[in-house]
Amino acid sequence: MTLPLQRSRFAQLGKAFYTELMPTPLTAPIRWGACNNGLAKELGLTEDFFEQDEHCLLLAGSAASDAYQVMPFASVYSGHQFGVWAGQLGDGRAILLGESVDSHGQYQEWQLKGAGKTPYSRFGDGRAVLRSSIREYLCSEAMYGLGIPTTRALAMTVSPEKVHREEVETAAVVTRIAPSFIRFGHFEHFFHRGQMDQLKTLLDFVIDEYYPIVKSAVNPYAELFHKVLQSTAELVAAWQSVGFCHGVMNTDNMSILGLTIDYGPFGFLDAFDVEHICNHSDTQGRYAYQQQPYIAHWNLVRLANCFLPFVEKEELVASLDRFPAYFEDAYQGRMRAKLGLDTYENSDDSLIADLMVTLHTLKVDFTLFFRYLSEVSKESLTHMFDVQFSQTRLASLFVGKRVDDMNRWLALYAKRLGYEKRGDAERLQMMRKVNPIYILRNYLLQEAIEKAQTGNFSEIERLHRCIQQPFEEREEFMDYAKLPPSWAGDICVSCSS
Ligand code: AMP
Ligand code: MG
Ligand code: MG
Repeated sequence: MTLPLQRSRFAQLGKAFYTELMPTPLTAPIRWGACNNGLAKELGLTEDFFEQDEHCLLLAGSAASDAYQVMPFASVYSGHQFGVWAGQLGDGRAILLGESVDSHGQYQEWQLKGAGKTPYSRFGDGRAVLRSSIREYLCSEAMYGLGIPTTRALAMTVSPEKVHREEVETAAVVTRIAPSFIRFGHFEHFFHRGQMDQLKTLLDFVIDEYYPIVKSAVNPYAELFHKVLQSTAELVAAWQSVGFCHGVMNTDNMSILGLTIDYGPFGFLDAFDVEHICNHSDTQGRYAYQQQPYIAHWNLVRLANCFLPFVEKEELVASLDRFPAYFEDAYQGRMRAKLGLDTYENSDDSLIADLMVTLHTLKVDFTLFFRYLSEVSKESLTHMFDVQFSQTRLASLFVGKRVDDMNRWLALYAKRLGYEKRGDAERLQMMRKVNPIYILRNYLLQEAIEKAQTGNFSEIERLHRCIQQPFEEREEFMDYAKLPPSWAGDICVSCSS
């Protein structure tokens, strides 16, 4: 039995870019921890793909050297970690198997994460623990459900193999899927080593395979940088609009395609708090929620450096200078949709900013606020805290809070809606298409992880079914739509994975 893979186009780049090697199989007995049927279908896999035990073994890294049909490899990259040049990193536990063509005709690369040591493992063991693999599997699919660019997860295989972190845990392997796993750090690697030929080879490859549209530009390299900058701005705007904190926005975790990549100590905001730091290892708050756009910009400056041999500095600076505007445009666009604003008024930006300050001050649940706001008619907005409305879901979020500021904002919002052409019914329906009722909260993940650690994987499957359609409220998933319990704030998520 083999996997339907062909040699990755990345392999054409040559030996300076990767090391060929076989994965290290997980210790038997190996079983499925999660199977993504929806993605399997998109990839055009056979319907019984997950019924084949051999596939389970292959995606746990155990195979004869010809079973993948092509030679797997780990790629080399470098990067800035927490603002400091870290030198060579690379795929320390990810092994790229090859690629397939999906049902839309697009190439998709298959990568095993946690498949054993590589020449780039440094002090690591090449493994990923079950806990972090569940987090990666579910969050990449949650992001996809939200319509935010991301790498995907086809499957998770699990084993009783012991892995040492703060505690002894067990190992798992996630099969990640993406058109490319190339990171900013790949470019930094060759630039910082002065390997300009390889750098040019990589740039040309990325243009040919992923950004052919820039070829007609006066300077395709300048245009490539500009496009990467735009998609990065749009990505971070999307994160901000759903309260997603990445946690480790190092340059080696930044995708050249503007995908969310490397799910580690991420978190979705519960109560809105612009200063929220999801990664307990991030003592300085470098990657706090409100810092993410600035960090994306900082990372793009690092990437811009790598373009210096091919693009005039002034041109790169001009691109970088446009980042704040691109981000703001994308962010305002998303926030306006969340508020159901279809027309434009000059005061909209301040209406949005005012709301965010109010939500932050009152520490209101970010997801449920927008969802419940999507149920309230314009007329009712200004009565939200009157006795007859105190039973509404929106009002329930403010129990025990001072509501003066919120009341004031709701009045402004109601007035603003008066300039809209759409009626309530249409507006609210559109709002519910962009304001999720379900979000992959840390505590939900924690419950799924704890169950899985006892050998019960049913919660992963159920949570996955729910977050695939985060905008569709369903009776069977109402337990996932509640405010987080008090212990949710105590969950500690660190870089250890
Ligand atoms: P991250 O902070 O997860 O983006 O990882 C940074 C670098 O450390 C990357 O080069 C990873 O491949 C590597 N790494 C992380 N965990 C391990 C591990 N358990 N074994 C080997 N390498 C690892
Ligand atoms: Mg990484
Ligand atoms: Mg990682």
